[in-house]
Amino acid sequence: MRMPLKLMMDLGRYMGRKKRAGEKYFPLVLMLEPLHACNLACVGCGRIVEYKDTLWDQMPLEEALGAAKEADAPIVSICGGEPLIYKHIVELTLGLIEDKRHVQLCTNALLLERFIKQVKPSVYLSFNIHLDGMRETHDRVVARDGVFDQCVKMIKLLKSEGYRVQTNTTVYRETTTEEIEEMISLLTSLDVDGMLLTPGYHYQVLSNDIYLKKQEMPYKFRRVRELARHHNIINTPIYLEFLVGERDLLCSPWTTVTRNPQGWKGPCYLITNGHYRTFKELHEATDWEFYRTKQDVRCRDCKLHSGFEGTVALDFGKSLRDSFALVRHYVA
Ligand code: SF4
Repeated sequence: MRMPLKLMMDLGRYMGRKKRAGEKYFPLVLMLEPLHACNLACVGCGRIVEYKDTLWDQMPLEEALGAAKEADAPIVSICGGEPLIYKHIVELTLGLIEDKRHVQLCTNALLLERFIKQVKPSVYLSFNIHLDGMRETHDRVVARDGVFDQCVKMIKLLKSEGYRVQTNTTVYRETTTEEIEEMISLLTSLDVDGMLLTPGYHYQVLSNDIYLKKQEMPYKFRRVRELARHHNIINTPIYLEFLVGERDLLCSPWTTVTRNPQGWKGPCYLITNGHYRTFKELHEATDWEFYRTKQDVRCRDCKLHSGFEGTVALDFGKSLRDSFALVRHYVA
């Protein structure tokens, strides 16, 4: 299975509960960024630019755990920055697991060995390793030699110790379909549980030209879709149809909310209008229908995974064809 059964059942129950209560704008995933500092300086990272003046701010542990309770989303993605340099990362992870939240720890894998001595495998824990290609490409993107080899070594270690491992790959303009295929074959041979491939985010704070233009996506993601038939690629078939330009989707930015040391970031993971003190204030300040219908000029070319896979999840059950495709995708 591409996703853990327990996660899918918990998510399904949670969504059913929210819909029955008549709620429309509820989160599925909390992107928890306890700090923005990192031990790498990747070329495509918007966070280290947007938060350059507050990079070393760290959320107090109680605030990070409190944010998870405030949003009450079943999935918490701990990201950043590099979350493994957050001083309370062990206590935060264990606290979220104790709260029965599905934790996805997004990491560059450099500090993993120390962490797994303190946090044992759990049905609620999954590692999400950043890997943007094969050795030459990945080490160039992260601007340090040896990081690709460290990722491969850590994936092998995590798998041998019984952890669930996913990878997260950004596809840039220069990423070739041959390299995507080579990387996916390698990850399959390492028995990786899930692979997410997304077009590079064009952060409003970055001006470089490394991102895929809308018209460049179909070719690369058609190949990803073919590969998804035989490999554990977790992009849903509906999101892939959107990436290859065969359908349009509305956005659901409220399904993936972001909390960092500055507050609740809105309106979405990608663009920032402001940071709000409470989750309630984020909701009160944001016209979700405006962003759902992509009226903001910054939404024009956006195909961000978190906004559109949220729509796919919320729409489950509305179309027989899509629902069947999703079930087949997850149980295959
Ligand atoms: S379309 Fe993109 S930029 Fe606009 S709200 Fe959705 S995720 Fe954010």
